Amino acid sequence: MLRGLNMDRQLLISGLIDYAGRNHSSTEVVATDSTGTLHRTNWTNIRWRALQLSTALKRHGIQQGDRVATIAWNDHRHLELYYGITGIGSVLHTVNPRLREQQISWIINHAEDQMVFIDPDFLPLAEAVASETPSVHTWVILTNELPETSLENAIAYEDMIDRSDAVEEWPLLDEWSAATLCYTSGTTGNPKGVMQSHRSIVLQTWATCTGDGHDVNSSQSILLAVPMFHVNGWAIPFAAAMAGSKLVLPGPDLSPEALVRHINTENVTFSAGVPTIWLSVVQYLKETDTDIPSLNRLAVGGSAAPRSLMDTLEDDYGVFVSHVWGMTEMTQGSAGRFTHRIQGLSREEQRRRQAMAGRELYGVELRLVDGDGEEVERDGVTPGELLARGPWVAASYFELDDESTHTSSPDGPWLRTGDVATMDDEGYISIVDRAKDVIKSGGEWISSIELENAAVGAPGVLEAAAVGLPHQRWGERPLLLVLLEAGKPLNTTEILESIRPHVASWWLPDEVVAVDEIPHTGTGKIDKKVLRDQFAGFEWPK
Ligand code: ADP
Repeated sequence: MLRGLNMDRQLLISGLIDYAGRNHSSTEVVATDSTGTLHRTNWTNIRWRALQLSTALKRHGIQQGDRVATIAWNDHRHLELYYGITGIGSVLHTVNPRLREQQISWIINHAEDQMVFIDPDFLPLAEAVASETPSVHTWVILTNELPETSLENAIAYEDMIDRSDAVEEWPLLDEWSAATLCYTSGTTGNPKGVMQSHRSIVLQTWATCTGDGHDVNSSQSILLAVPMFHVNGWAIPFAAAMAGSKLVLPGPDLSPEALVRHINTENVTFSAGVPTIWLSVVQYLKETDTDIPSLNRLAVGGSAAPRSLMDTLEDDYGVFVSHVWGMTEMTQGSAGRFTHRIQGLSREEQRRRQAMAGRELYGVELRLVDGDGEEVERDGVTPGELLARGPWVAASYFELDDESTHTSSPDGPWLRTGDVATMDDEGYISIVDRAKDVIKSGGEWISSIELENAAVGAPGVLEAAAVGLPHQRWGERPLLLVLLEAGKPLNTTEILESIRPHVASWWLPDEVVAVDEIPHTGTGKIDKKVLRDQFAGFEWPK
């Protein structure tokens, strides 16, 4: 081999924050902490405090490869932890506080976390799990002063990163060193740990910044409505540093009122989050007759974004929606921002593509296969299991021996995503369902996602969930559960008529039931398992 004659510089997360610190001292990071206090800082300060934190971590015995956990909201301290923990080669383990207490202690034990940094809101949680998590030698509360607590080995964050410490620059690590650890919610079985390397994070961050990714650049003011405790905040905390963008971190309050306030006071141009958040924002804007003039683009994903949401955002508020698909195993898996390709198409054709879950972005290859592992037609209608591979796709899970998570294809392993999808000849994917949620009626598949998306287009329907329940004749039939606007009576005919134009007639739900609440998993997805259990004895109308 004739080697290329380039410098041997490793792709490290510390390089991102060093870049932002050197060049973007006047670019703000605006954060609301868990007490509601607003902090205005900038990239140079974030870098400096992250270096102080690294020094303090070493003082507490943290070494390369040690796992250090966070249970925290989106604020400046969590951002410092992103860089301070990874900068010295220890592993940032973001824990999702919405998981059940048992799952949280299971995860901390599995990861063998040495230290855990928690927002004061999670003090009761830490106190409850402390006796069952022996690997943790120090709990650090993200406050100025230590609040009253029964935790024996607790300290306050601001005491820990004592300003008198002489800081050292980041060490030069191998880019394959582990950088972050994030567990999937594990709706079936135990949670699985996805461990990303520095190289993987830098590469996926680069992809996120590209024009057809999220086009993150230094002119932007970004509101991070994706929790930093899940899927590394969709790489945006890293992308904002790589690009030198202004970053707005909302803290615990993700109410539509708070988000709209941040958008308007901080001139937010771009934001990202799951559809539920934007559904409530749109409802709030309508009710209060408010506008969001600075916001021009949103990345929506994590679950399927209903087309009606995208249409309203674009038509009524001038916000273009990039619909993305992804998962913890790779962060962003597809991109939906192909403006240059679809600009010349009719409005309807543009919208049709926008409603799909994006298409391949360089770095994550996608493939659809049937039950025998054979590739299915890219015809936009034939469903198959979605597979993925690429330099930032998980090759295996942390301390888990399970060969069923990947294929043994002749051209090497692919990650089995567990999603059933269709793909068209341009590579646009549509997620039909999670394999375990698809409704099987008379041997054919019905997409619960498509039913739900059509149902939220009906007047007065705030949220909808379709589940397959046992049926004597068809095996399973869809039941539609709807959450209605306050005071709106259930009008089954109106809802079914709104769905009818979008789906085959045999897909129409056999029954519609109004519910007071639709349950969600720890990662904000509709909890179909709970609903199936709740309606287990449901009797279909004769
Ligand atoms: P977890 O598996 O922990 O719930 P993830 O956030 O990793 O959490 O979830 C990834 C899953 O979310 C995907 O496999 C897919 O089922 C779903 N998902 C993500 N984006 C979309 C989308 N745009 N449309 C439909 N489903 C999506």
